[in-house]
Amino acid sequence: MKFVKIFIILLLIPIQSVISADIEVFMDTLEQKLEWLNYRLNLEQWDHYTKGQADSLDFYQELYNDLTSNPEIYLQLQRDKKDISNEQDLRRWDILNSLFSSDDVGISHKISKLVDSLSSIEVNYRAIYNGEKKQANELYKIYRTSRNRGDRENAYRAYVSVGNKLAEGLSQLIRLRNQQAKKNGYSNYFSYSFKQQNLDIDEYEKLLERLDQLSQSPYQAILASVRNKLSYNELQIWDLGYFYADINRELDSYFPVESQLSFIKQGLKGIGVNIDKMPIYFDLESRDGKSQFAFTFPIKPPHDLRVMANLIEGHYSTRTLHHEIGHAIHYALISQDNNLFRTEQSGIWSEAMAQIFAGMCEERLWLEKYAKVPYAVARSFIKSKKEADIIYLRTQLMRLQFELQAYTNPNRDLNKLYWELFEKYLMLPKHEDLKPWASLFYYITHPVYMQNYLYADMVKAQTYAYLEKNYESVVDNKMTKAFLVQNYLRFGSRYPWDELLERGTEEGLNPNYYIQSLGL
Ligand SMILES: [Zn+2]
Repeated sequence: MKFVKIFIILLLIPIQSVISADIEVFMDTLEQKLEWLNYRLNLEQWDHYTKGQADSLDFYQELYNDLTSNPEIYLQLQRDKKDISNEQDLRRWDILNSLFSSDDVGISHKISKLVDSLSSIEVNYRAIYNGEKKQANELYKIYRTSRNRGDRENAYRAYVSVGNKLAEGLSQLIRLRNQQAKKNGYSNYFSYSFKQQNLDIDEYEKLLERLDQLSQSPYQAILASVRNKLSYNELQIWDLGYFYADINRELDSYFPVESQLSFIKQGLKGIGVNIDKMPIYFDLESRDGKSQFAFTFPIKPPHDLRVMANLIEGHYSTRTLHHEIGHAIHYALISQDNNLFRTEQSGIWSEAMAQIFAGMCEERLWLEKYAKVPYAVARSFIKSKKEADIIYLRTQLMRLQFELQAYTNPNRDLNKLYWELFEKYLMLPKHEDLKPWASLFYYITHPVYMQNYLYADMVKAQTYAYLEKNYESVVDNKMTKAFLVQNYLRFGSRYPWDELLERGTEEGLNPNYYIQSLGL
């Protein structure tokens, strides 16, 4: 504790004293402060999500806000950029610049307090389904696989019911974040955030539009065949996943909870990655007071990485775990001396690395070789997945448009907006008594982050296409690790993600690989 106090004093004092120092020294000082604060914050977050309580989370969050919302630091970064003489320092500057803002620290504090109080609601919330408390993963499974239509409806309603508790807080968060963006000279938080992440809104909107147009008729064809097979007059959201229930139920039986980690480990050994030799700690059992989501905490990369999940029987749960392990492997294999390049990863690249690893468990060879799924089951799963991917894409487009429009037209009634987009993209009946948009926790904890999954899937498709063309298979092939370490993983954030992608696949981001992988 003594050490902590001394460090805090050191942390607070030098901000003023380095203001006029050399820019490189100034950046070194900022990095050291960030390294220590990230470490403390990640530890507190770990406690918060796994135990439902973290005594000093607010304290470290405030210190972090005080540092990153300090207008003097922001101004000095802008002013002294011209003095930077080498490429590596310019890269450090880019990363630091995206973390600091000229905020009013009061707003940052209000935002993080609200986020923490909403996440406490999530951590402690358990929905009631048919008179019984259920965890989210179980409800998800029931609403997609139960043979009883009423049970599916009840499970869906329970699954999104946390939205009713969070809706007001989320609306307030969106307003606060827009106020914060205005302080920084932007019209809304979405454009501010896109600028920080070096993304172009116009190009993004064009991409969403293109994906919408390409997927419209294949999606309508899927709806028609579901309607036909289930012979309901009117399809509902809880019938859509059910159409694939038989194959999912069959596949799930090959994935008992106790085998999931071991299948993943064997599959990773097949590409040359041994996670038993990596400093990864797991918390995989669900319990009261633990968040129902899955996260990886880079406590101190590459020395201390922690994966939290809530396993239940099935392939979906395995895939989620594999994704999180992908994050942990990424952090473990970064070999950079500079801490900033180890800890501060861009959202797109970080999710892309996780998706590249997780994608392995959806390949036929992986299913057969490591999970002993029979050929016929693996084949029907892959066939059904082609359709499920299109449903997922339409769902994703709806969620991405929702966030974009919630920030750019903040005066809209968010529930109305959601259900309008729901009708447009999913073409199913609305249920305006429910607020599923507020049950999507990403909008609360990771604002303007969800598009990273879409870009990550594009990076993954492009990388798989390259690996398959040049090395035949991604699964069970040691070249996969060699390629990933050599071109992607070891660099961390030393170079921008689009440069790494081009280095690896000899081509800039090209959405066509993703579009082809969906059969569109
Ligand atoms: Zn992830």
